[in-house]
Amino acid sequence: MNPVIALVGRPNVGKSTLFNRLTRSRDALVADFAGLTRDRKYGEGKVGGKPYIVIDTGGISGDENGIDSAMAGQSLLAIEEADIVLFLVDGRAGLTVADQMIAQHLREKGKDAWLIVNKTDGADPDVIVAEFYALGMERSPIAIAAAHGRNVTAMIQHILEPF
Ligand code: GDP
Ligand code: MG
Repeated sequence: MNPVIALVGRPNVGKSTLFNRLTRSRDALVADFAGLTRDRKYGEGKVGGKPYIVIDTGGISGDENGIDSAMAGQSLLAIEEADIVLFLVDGRAGLTVADQMIAQHLREKGKDAWLIVNKTDGADPDVIVAEFYALGMERSPIAIAAAHGRNVTAMIQHILEPF
């Protein structure tokens, strides 16, 4: 089966914008995928001849009581299903408590997550990503601007290299 990429993060960070961009090719479609539950939004994409599946999720607000309820539902299940987790944060809003809760959950799950700092248009990406190192992710953050497509193709090519 093609690698499954889950987009997680709190609401409004740009997950659906990135989903639309990653599934933009002419033959992109949301369809049945064997082994995956239907109640999340799935799409297909392809980069450099490599096909992949993307899961969009509603988001994790982090204001519920406790990490279990905060992480409940679709986002949690998407993380379980995924080969690759893209953890999106909002470079304009900056680091939030909800981001820290999500990072903690991913650490506990031992999931191989990439930290993607979105909305880095209109400023120096290196400056914007700096504060997100505090999340303690294993890899350096990757700056993108999903709404404008900046660095999106290079980012997806990079994360798909092992597949
Ligand atoms: P989601 O709730 O995580 O799915 O976020 P959405 O994809 O719905 O985006 C939330 C808002 O952020 C929308 O108004 C988008 O247009 C905006 N947005 C998404 N990506 C970018 C970006 O790269 N730059 C800027 N400035 N805004 C963005
Ligand atoms: Mg959305």
